[in-house]
Amino acid sequence: MSKPKYIFVTGGVSSSLGKGIISASLAKLLQSRGLNVTIQKLDPYINVDPGTLNPYEHGECYVTSDGAETDLDLGHYERFLNVETSQANNVTTGKIYQTVIEEERKGKFLGKTVQVIPHITNEIKRRIQLLGNNNSLDVIITEIGGTVGDIESLPYIESVRQLRWELGKANSLVIHLTLIPYLSAAKELKTKPTQHSVKTLMESGINADILVCRTEHQISDEIKNKLALFCNVEVDSVIQSIDASTIYDVPLLMKKEKLDQVVLRKLEISNFKEANLEKWTDFVNKLKFPKNTIKIGLIGKYVELQDSYKSILESLIHAGSINETKVEVCSIHSEFIDNDQINNEISNFDGVIVAPGFGSRGIEGKIKAIKCARENNIPFFGICLGMQMAVVEFARNIIGLKDANSTEMNKKTLNPVISLMEEQKTISEMGGTMRLGSWECNINEQSKVFEIYNSKLINERHRHRWELNNNYLNQLENAGLNSVGINAKTGLVEIIELPENDWFIGVQFHPEYQSTVEMPHPLFVSFVKACLSYNKSKK
Ligand code: GLN
Repeated sequence: MSKPKYIFVTGGVSSSLGKGIISASLAKLLQSRGLNVTIQKLDPYINVDPGTLNPYEHGECYVTSDGAETDLDLGHYERFLNVETSQANNVTTGKIYQTVIEEERKGKFLGKTVQVIPHITNEIKRRIQLLGNNNSLDVIITEIGGTVGDIESLPYIESVRQLRWELGKANSLVIHLTLIPYLSAAKELKTKPTQHSVKTLMESGINADILVCRTEHQISDEIKNKLALFCNVEVDSVIQSIDASTIYDVPLLMKKEKLDQVVLRKLEISNFKEANLEKWTDFVNKLKFPKNTIKIGLIGKYVELQDSYKSILESLIHAGSINETKVEVCSIHSEFIDNDQINNEISNFDGVIVAPGFGSRGIEGKIKAIKCARENNIPFFGICLGMQMAVVEFARNIIGLKDANSTEMNKKTLNPVISLMEEQKTISEMGGTMRLGSWECNINEQSKVFEIYNSKLINERHRHRWELNNNYLNQLENAGLNSVGINAKTGLVEIIELPENDWFIGVQFHPEYQSTVEMPHPLFVSFVKACLSYNKSKK
């Protein structure tokens, strides 16, 4: 077979239908048949990357090990496939235009008018095929953000049209994800919106090969026949995607619907093995039928939008499944925490996570929640800003440095226990300039985290500008806060723990970016276990 084969996933009728999950599920099925698959996301917005977007706008910003700030769908790809993604897996309109404009300034197109077709579409096609330069890949799934018909996605759709032509029919296919709404008054599923969106796609010169239909009710054969007839697809290429109780069910549902079989046939891929999803099924079963329940508080300031802390929530699901424990996450808005909430809610949790974040809003609430966890020996997990605030809390309440703070929150504090990293001091541009991506960290063997990782050297991903100020390290350690993970190159403190407490750990990095179904992150696994023991000890 010629390699790689390309699968394009477009969306119709409505946003938020879950193109990322469908793409990741299909990739999982193909991977389980022995194929080497990767997924790419094309985002139609003009930001060069989502790093400068507020989580309210676009959900969490996911970070790859090579330091790309990307769309949160890449998190799903990694969690499903257990394979790393990279800079090349997320392309935005901003990136495309930036490249083309830089080339124009250099004189690459001298004498020519630079236009959407062919210059922008050529750059899109180049970016899509960039991943294909890696010869080991069998299939590349490219998810096109937005909904068909959006002005912003037109150049992408046009590029797909051109590429299909250039690659040939058997080397590429288009999956259109659409919605079949149920009208309760008529007690009927409606196909018309899908017919219209397929038609819009056709107006751009693209015939969908497969329709994946999101639905709340079973789609009858009659409806499948109707969709096939009106949308120019074969009947077995109308795939039902019924609402699932967990996203991790979707690969199993897609297998039942034979999505992978139809894809393999259309792409003329024949030398594959049977899909084996035994391990995955075991994970889903443990998730669905837990033996225990714990309740933990997630303290942050973007709690209104669940997607803001996507990777943390998914990591807790992975860790919950392996511990056969349902992890109920209670989101707490750090800006409004008062003593009442501390006494009646936070102090009753089985564990407390203080989330990453930026800026001073809600900081004092986070510090109060940390104090409560520390004093009551409630398992505490501080991630990035959460770790920094644990240091501030300790400095204020144990060492007695009443105005201790991070200079991010108070530039003039007399006790800057968290300060700006040296190399950050001269940086003025905001985009892509944080300390990003994977860094090595040495772990102290006399620590809890050593037991947890069972390793002296770890690699974790970062996204921050501030650090623990090493001028305060002695004072902190003498008072009982241990620095147990140190970056070998920079000497920065990456992990702190309080040995006095049963489970009190803060990490400067983001472990949540590395938790997958196959390899739940050891820190989350251990945290959930600690919460469970704490919960049992209360009874
Ligand atoms: N705002 C803090 C910093 O930049 C923490 C960042 C984070 O939580 N990702 O260092």
